[in-house]
Amino acid sequence: MRILVAEDEKKVAGFIKKGFEEESYAVDVAYDGVEGEYLASTNDYDVIIMDIMLPKKNGIEVIKDLRTRDIKTPILLLTARDTIEDKVRGLDSGADDYLSKPFAFEELLARVRALLRRKDFGVTELKFADLVLDQATRKAKRGDKTIDLTSKEYGLLEYFLRNPNKVLTRTMIAEHVWDYTFDSDTNVIDVYVNHLRSKVDKDFPKKLIHTARGIGYILREEE
Ligand code: CA
Repeated sequence: MRILVAEDEKKVAGFIKKGFEEESYAVDVAYDGVEGEYLASTNDYDVIIMDIMLPKKNGIEVIKDLRTRDIKTPILLLTARDTIEDKVRGLDSGADDYLSKPFAFEELLARVRALLRRKDFGVTELKFADLVLDQATRKAKRGDKTIDLTSKEYGLLEYFLRNPNKVLTRTMIAEHVWDYTFDSDTNVIDVYVNHLRSKVDKDFPKKLIHTARGIGYILREEE
């Protein structure tokens, strides 16, 4: 899961980024509206958290322009004041939800999860063959065996489960599981996929994560 946080207050942006990273999300930060709009239109985010008061271009204008360009990513608007007017303007511009500052991180996280669930039609479990990932408890199981995952492995497995039977290139994986500071010249993705693969497949005759030689990886059941 990769999210964009558009927030000019460095402290608040840092606090949100750190919190989501601890929950296995990859997080990009934009410090003004123009940068936020640029990142939102050039990357495929799962959710965008947009502050209303941003330098260069305010959050409402950014959301309006993103929606005009048919970018449908769920957006949560952060409002500075708890006024009805701000909330109505935000929702009318195309935001999917809002949260007034100051807020507790737990509430922001719960609202982002709810937006992602809406995209998934309310489903919290991701399944493929006998592999199950519960996004609410963050527990993975293959058959009866519980699989312990690190934060990045969780993000990676979630991405595979959301895109079964599809070759995922290293670039796609980098874009969805890592943030924009990721150095694509390294073999980090291969290392992480190999760790995940040994956890998911090692004790099972039927392998699920396969190499698509020269391209990337694919989650599929063997023929
Ligand atoms: Ca602000």
